[in-house]
Amino acid sequence: MTMTHASRLLAWYDRHRRTLPWRAPSGERTPPYLVWLSEIMLQQTTVATVGDYYRRFVKRWPTVEALAEAPLDDVLSAWAGLGYYARARNLHACARAVADRHGGHFPEDEAALRALPGIGPYTAAAIRAIAFDLKASAVDGNVERVIARLEAIETPLPDAKIEIHLSAAELVPAQRAGDYAQAMMDLGATVCTPRKPLCVICPLSRSCRALKLGIAETLPRRSPKAAKPTRRGLAFVLARKDGAILLRKRPTKGLLGGMDEVPSSPWREGKFIVADALGDAPVPARWTIMDGLVRHTFTHFHLELSVARATATTDRLARLLPGSAWCTLDLLDERALPTVMRKVIEKASLS
Ligand code: SF4
Repeated sequence: MTMTHASRLLAWYDRHRRTLPWRAPSGERTPPYLVWLSEIMLQQTTVATVGDYYRRFVKRWPTVEALAEAPLDDVLSAWAGLGYYARARNLHACARAVADRHGGHFPEDEAALRALPGIGPYTAAAIRAIAFDLKASAVDGNVERVIARLEAIETPLPDAKIEIHLSAAELVPAQRAGDYAQAMMDLGATVCTPRKPLCVICPLSRSCRALKLGIAETLPRRSPKAAKPTRRGLAFVLARKDGAILLRKRPTKGLLGGMDEVPSSPWREGKFIVADALGDAPVPARWTIMDGLVRHTFTHFHLELSVARATATTDRLARLLPGSAWCTLDLLDERALPTVMRKVIEKASLS
C-alpha cells in the first residue's frame, strides 16, 4: 500500500471512526492503561459485551496502580461472565508487574511490553501504536481478513499468518500509526466484514486484489478445524432452605482457575451415565436430576453438564466439603462465577 492508500484509509477514518468507550476523541491519544485494558477484554469477546465491563473496571480501578492493589478475587468477580478467565489473572499479574517494574507506567519498548504477563505480539503492537503512536502493526482477526483480501492471499489460515503479518507490517505508515491501526480495525469491523463485505463504500476498493478477482467473500481461507471433543459431567447444586448455594473455589491453575463453582463430577469424554456420576456427589443428600443439559463451549472442548439439585437439611453439610461455603442469592452476583456455573445454577432453580 502506498501512502496514498494509507491517506485514503485515514481520511475515511476521520469521517467514519466508531465511537468506543475506550477511544480518545479525534486528535488525542488513549492512555496506555486504557488501551491495554480494552484490548485484553476484547480478546475473544465482542465490543458490545466489553463496553459495560470496561466502564465498570475503569470506574473502580481508574489507574494501573489501583488495579495492581486490588485483591485478585475482586478482579475475578468483576470479570465473571467475560470468559477466558486466564485473561483476568494475567490482567492482575500484569498490573502488578507494571506497578513494580515500571513505576506504574507502561513501557513503549516492544520487548519490555511482551515481557509482561498476558501481553502477546498483538496487544504489544496495539499499545505501541494506539497509546504511543509508534509504527507498529497490530493484526487481529479483523485486520487479518482485510489484509488477506487486499493482497488476495489464498493460503489458508493458520499457514497464511506469516504472509499476512508481513504484508500488514509493510503497509503501516510512518505518520498517524495509532489512527491507522484503529482505522484498520474499524474497516474490518464495519466494512470489510466476514460476510458480504461492503466493497462499494470501501476506501481501499481501488487497490483490493480480492475484489478485482471476485473472491473477496471467500477470503481468508481456513484449514478445516479438528472437531472439538465433548466432555460430560454432573454438577451438584446444593441449596439451603433460604436458597443459599454451596460454592467452592477451583484450583488457581488451569481451566477457570481461581473461579467459584458448584461441585461436580469430573468432566470426561466418552460414555456418561448420570446414575454413576451421582456417586461423585460431594455430600449425602436426596439429589434430583433436572431435565435437560447445560451446554457450554470452551476453547478446546464442548461441555455438557447434567444438573442435580438437593436441599440441605443442615448448615453443617458445608463442613464435609473442605474449601466450600454457602453463598446467599443476593451475593451471587458478586462472586467470581463463570458463565457455565451461572447456567448450572439457573437450571437448578427451574422446578
Ligand atoms: Fe474488503 Fe471489499 Fe474493501 Fe477489499 S474492497 S478491503 S474486500 S471491503
